[in-house]
Amino acid sequence: MKMLLAGEWVDRDETIDVRDPFDSSLIDTVPSATHEDVETALGAAFAARETARSMTTYDRCQVLLKTAAIVRDNVEDFARTIAREGSKTITEARKEAGRTVNTLTISGEEAKRLNGETIPFDSFPGGEQRRGHYQRVPIGVILAITPFNDPLNLVAHKLGPAIAGGNSVILKPATVTPLSALKLTEAFLEAGLPRDVLQCLTGYGAVLGDALVSDERVRMVSFTGGLEAGKHITTKAGLKKIGMELGSNSPVVVWKDADIEWAAETCVSGAFWAAGQNCIGVQRIYVHREVYDRFRDLFVARTRSYRIGDKLDEATDMGPMITEAEAERVERWIAEAVEKGATVLTGGARTGALVEPTVLENVPRGATIDSEEVFGPTVNLYRFDDLDDAIAAANSVNYGLHAAGFARDVEICFRLVEGLDAGSVLINDSTDYRLDSMPFGGIKGSGLGREGVKFSLQEMTEPKVVCWYLPGL
Ligand code: NAP
Repeated sequence: MKMLLAGEWVDRDETIDVRDPFDSSLIDTVPSATHEDVETALGAAFAARETARSMTTYDRCQVLLKTAAIVRDNVEDFARTIAREGSKTITEARKEAGRTVNTLTISGEEAKRLNGETIPFDSFPGGEQRRGHYQRVPIGVILAITPFNDPLNLVAHKLGPAIAGGNSVILKPATVTPLSALKLTEAFLEAGLPRDVLQCLTGYGAVLGDALVSDERVRMVSFTGGLEAGKHITTKAGLKKIGMELGSNSPVVVWKDADIEWAAETCVSGAFWAAGQNCIGVQRIYVHREVYDRFRDLFVARTRSYRIGDKLDEATDMGPMITEAEAERVERWIAEAVEKGATVLTGGARTGALVEPTVLENVPRGATIDSEEVFGPTVNLYRFDDLDDAIAAANSVNYGLHAAGFARDVEICFRLVEGLDAGSVLINDSTDYRLDSMPFGGIKGSGLGREGVKFSLQEMTEPKVVCWYLPGL
């Protein structure tokens, strides 16, 4: 596919192969953008601010709703693209494509709810005969940088609110999964978005990133990805807004009165969705000693029933990791944990990019797989006696995106809600539950700011105060 630069679909002599991680087959190629392309994109985006901001609210809404309709009408095509270029099975990919329709629809709706407020200027001496309000205005050029694991919906989570807010956008999708993003870009143009308002630049973040991120014409960098790249971007961005949606290492606490069958069932799904490459995937589960054995047996049995393999096969539950190198990293982390005393209850083996769904217990504090984000299909089980100890262990990592607790006793539920440090606490659901309209984001190393369309829209616009001094009043 070509990339969209300054209103034109262009290719370049140097291209990047997009391969299916299951069998390395070539799906397509995309241009490898150059530094000159970055300069062209920045100039075009800066010039397009006026086009973007002059779109009426009605026009922005219509473009977003039409784009949502195009994705809905072609949902199977979008799902197959997600499933082929990424790690998701076709079933998982269909869910992502469906959620993308929601994200774009919500963006269209929220465009109409972008309100200001009146300001009571006369509420202090000195404000007499003044009236005013604030309204929200676009911030200008937004740079959107997206990861591989939700290659369509996380792009929609940036483009939807950016366009709803009247901004021009440069999108830099993950290099391993650019096709879903390019198809969504096509859908926006088909829906009537002025061609210069959105650009999609394909190429390596490590090569193009600094020039894009540090440019003063960019007024916001909206980044979703790993902690390391996030930290780097933060140091390069300079004086501009940054939105950081980073990784996590999500904990679950299961109290002794919980519905154990449900907790095991939903946490297996939460751990192995997208082969564990999910920023809110379940990584650590703390289970009360009285119900530990039952939970473990149910969890392991369900994990063993998973079918792994070809993502396009309707019967497959879990596909490969995004690259063989990533699968090797997870294999190393498992081996390190075992060396330090962990036990593999099931899984643990790797073939190419496929890592078996893996359940570990007795993982010691200090093992990498305990403290860092694994972003792979492994989960650690721990026993606990005291709820405060479990909450402290759950909070012991430098992440805090989602956390979950399972219990029936309402007081225990409240102790979990109040004790678990995270952007969201899910009660009686796995950590990977998310609604596209809720505020979404984390604390500590999990990021800065919130997405979820309405909340991104606030970040992607700014208040402009209008004050009238009317001496005749
Ligand atoms: P990544 O390696 O950090 O890459 C994310 C994006 O950043 C890619 O487009 C990448 O481009 C680009 N990039 C890398 N280095 C850059 C630089 N120096 N300057 C500018 N851009 C740069 O992350 P990933 O492996 O794609 O995704 C996995 C991570 O994303 C996990 O940590 C996961 O938890 C996190 N994530 C967070 C959320 C959330 O909402 N909180 C959601 C999904 C994923 P290239 O592809 O060219 O390297």
